[in-house]
Amino acid sequence: MKINTAEFIISNSEVSKCPKDPLPEYAFIGRSNVGKSSLINMLTNHKNLAKTSGRPGKTQLINHFKINNNWFLVDLPGYGYARVSKKTKEVFQKFITDYFETREQLVCAFVLIDIRLEAQKIDLEFITYLGVTEVPFCIVFTKADKISKGKIDQQVAAYRKQLLANNWEEMPQYFVTSSTEGNGREQLLEFIDGVNDEVFKNNEF
Ligand code: GDP
Repeated sequence: MKINTAEFIISNSEVSKCPKDPLPEYAFIGRSNVGKSSLINMLTNHKNLAKTSGRPGKTQLINHFKINNNWFLVDLPGYGYARVSKKTKEVFQKFITDYFETREQLVCAFVLIDIRLEAQKIDLEFITYLGVTEVPFCIVFTKADKISKGKIDQQVAAYRKQLLANNWEEMPQYFVTSSTEGNGREQLLEFIDGVNDEVFKNNEF
């Protein structure tokens, strides 16, 4: 897919205020510093698109970018736990769960994982949350340029093992990316293109 246009549309904290356009959307989410802004800028060929909404105080917002007038890329900044009781019952922030549980235009989430790290509890819990909520998702490993090809394979295998141990039957679809090298860009955009074709063919919106 060629990116012709990528425009920042709106940031807000309420799903009800997200754009009403009947377009498929793809949400990008991960722990802060995972490389999400860099990936969004790499995918869209814009140096500072993701930063547009990255102003201080704007970090806990749902950011919509319209791509090619045809689909939305949604930047959901850094998830974390919101403690709801003294007994440390931990849940994800409400604006995030509201988004995933009610946003009808969402067709796929991309969960970003730093390929250098061993599986982190919060990422595994978030992936489980998506599974329970029945949100389709893919894993996007980031920063692949920072390790060797052999190590990449090892890290992916270790992640797969971890997910299987967490009751997943198989490794979800995944992409290995590097924002500095552009790796994975074509594969990710082709995937989105394919899903968009299906969505439009089936008249889902
Ligand atoms: P965010 O907080 O998830 O939006 O993360 P950023 O995109 O701001 O990236 C966090 C840090 O990791 C920055 O210093 C980036 O330059 C660096 N970074 C992000 N992606 C890559 C990558 O693919 N390769 C390398 N080498 N560094 C990256």
